[in-house]
Amino acid sequence: MPILVSCPSCSREWTGTVQAHCTICHEHFSTVATFDTHRPGPRRKDGTPSCGKPGDITRRKRDGTVVPMLKPVSTVHGPLWVSWSDDTRHDAEEEPA
Ligand SMILES: [Zn+2]
Ligand SMILES: [Zn+2]
Repeated sequence: MPILVSCPSCSREWTGTVQAHCTICHEHFSTVATFDTHRPGPRRKDGTPSCGKPGDITRRKRDGTVVPMLKPVSTVHGPLWVSWSDDTRHDAEEEPA
């Protein structure tokens, strides 16, 4: 049986231990890596990391186009942010031109 975990603040539930829930913005991420992706900015003065909007986090490809890094997928427990690169492990777009 998968372990069901829930956030006491927003009551979001999820299963498994690899997923990461942000206790600041309460977005939910597939892995710690995607969780880290949504906090690119400097920490606030009080020491808490500042969260980016997951849908607004982008990266610049070698050809200069800016692409989103995270995309939401629906799960039975609610939206989950995953990395675009999870789909394309051998990302052809990253090949040198
Ligand atoms: Zn957050
Ligand atoms: Zn929460």
